[in-house]
Amino acid sequence: MALAGTGVFSETLEGDVYNYYADGEWKKSSSGNSVAIINPTTRMTQYKVQGCSREEVNKVMNSAKSAQKLWAKTPLWKRAELLHKAAAILKEHKAPIAECLVKEIAKPAKDAVTEVVRSGDLISYCAEEGVRVLGEGKFLVSDSFPGNERTKYCLTSKVYFTTYLPPATLQVTIHIIVCLIPLGVILAIPPFNYPVNLAVSKIAPALIAGNSIVLKPPTQGAVSALHMVHCFHLAGFPKGLINCVTGKGSEIGDFLTMHPGVNCISFTGGDTGIAISKKANMVPLQMELGGKDACIVLEDADLDLVAANIIKGGFSYSGQRCTAVKVVLVMESVADALVEKVNAKVANLSVGPPENDSDITPVVSESSANFIEGLVLDAKEKGATFCQEYKREGNLIWPLLLDNVRPDMRIAWEEPFGPVLPVIRINSVEEGINHCNASNFGLQGCVFTKDVNKAILISDAMETGTVQINSAPARGPDHFPFQGIKDSGIGSQGITNSINMMTRVKTTVINLPSPSYTMG
Ligand code: NAP
Repeated sequence: MALAGTGVFSETLEGDVYNYYADGEWKKSSSGNSVAIINPTTRMTQYKVQGCSREEVNKVMNSAKSAQKLWAKTPLWKRAELLHKAAAILKEHKAPIAECLVKEIAKPAKDAVTEVVRSGDLISYCAEEGVRVLGEGKFLVSDSFPGNERTKYCLTSKVYFTTYLPPATLQVTIHIIVCLIPLGVILAIPPFNYPVNLAVSKIAPALIAGNSIVLKPPTQGAVSALHMVHCFHLAGFPKGLINCVTGKGSEIGDFLTMHPGVNCISFTGGDTGIAISKKANMVPLQMELGGKDACIVLEDADLDLVAANIIKGGFSYSGQRCTAVKVVLVMESVADALVEKVNAKVANLSVGPPENDSDITPVVSESSANFIEGLVLDAKEKGATFCQEYKREGNLIWPLLLDNVRPDMRIAWEEPFGPVLPVIRINSVEEGINHCNASNFGLQGCVFTKDVNKAILISDAMETGTVQINSAPARGPDHFPFQGIKDSGIGSQGITNSINMMTRVKTTVINLPSPSYTMG
């Protein structure tokens, strides 16, 4: 297996610090600062990245702006061609990138490879979808709206209408031109848990739609992201179109998000996103934030199916997924049986380092482990039933099911982002829906029942962006619409929605002479 920072990736590394990427080159920051990335398993420094300065951010914004202007005029098929190339290079280098994911964020080895391959697929799909959705237009006539004669035609297209039409043609055929044009410079900020996939879910739609990118990767995950960016570099995108500045969000985050050169912010993360949305300039925001996804289990549910989905949904990647099942709301009459089945499966989960492909690996940081522990101790003090013994070694927390959780416990409402899952016993479906809707979050939810009609009614009543019927919440497939409401986000993602979100409408109206005008 090739090592990170070697082979084709060697230019990303200088000494023991990874360079940032600007203007088509790998650069050392003049700040002289570096930021350490701590391996969650060893709790030692694994990598270092540059701590970019404000001046460097300013320069990056300028070059991103110039590069975007040319890129917007690049034919769609050429944009798509480069994206396909980047996707292929990314997949080709899945092993060294996955190795970084294992070391930076303790992602189980197999899941790390899956993340890189899925990201390549996402880029390719985006290229194809972009060619389709951006390549089509619409023709409208004015007399379909009351009070109008057929004196105006409206041609809508989804790419900048740069073709010069001779005046004679314009006067006769086209009176309003509506284009969906790129927004400009997109600031992309992904979270630690999918630093490659959630970066490309912003980069690929932005690029196919004609935008440029400034990426600020999460500190934990930055080296994986830099390697991914290098694949775009190798694909041959124009200089300055894709940039990646590194540094702690707490240090350069505000400067980036409030920068006047930014035309759109696509952010995925926790409460930081709420603060950003209050501070950002008047630019479109795409916010994918936290969740407290509820799993409502009815009396007629297939409990084996539910248990399997609770394990997959609640404990994959140690619960560090936005769409993880984060609270089980089960009808009292079937709660004992369900808890027994889930416990049997929890006992089979392997716990250990990500290199061994363990099911449960260390959570991303010590502060995260401390936060989870705080929720567990609060639940203990308030009388929750511990189905397993609470066990922690460093950042490694053993999987834990907490039964008989009540609404006065923090874990009933807060997102642990760890392998700890509360079960609340309910006496009616309404009680489950009410708990779900009382949450500040509204990302996803799921309902298990054999009665599809009931499931649809419950789905309608749940105030979340998505409801899964008889399956755990999930983000993918990546072309499905994906959105959170309330504190879970702004806007809708998914490949097509992101492409559309990263464009804006521009209307040019050409007025005809008044109807009384005679040509003779
Ligand atoms: P986070 O702490 O909010 O960080 C997210 C990103 O924001 C990181 O790149 C971080 O950089 C950066 N950042 C920090 N402070 C900033 C500031 N002041 N301005 C701009 N950027 C700043 O979230 P996380 O711990 O990485 O991720 C976990 C959270 O993400 C969970 O709540 C999870 O539910 C949510 N999530 C949501 C979705 C979704 O699609 N809805 C998907 C995945 C995860 P540094 O790393 O340098 O601090």
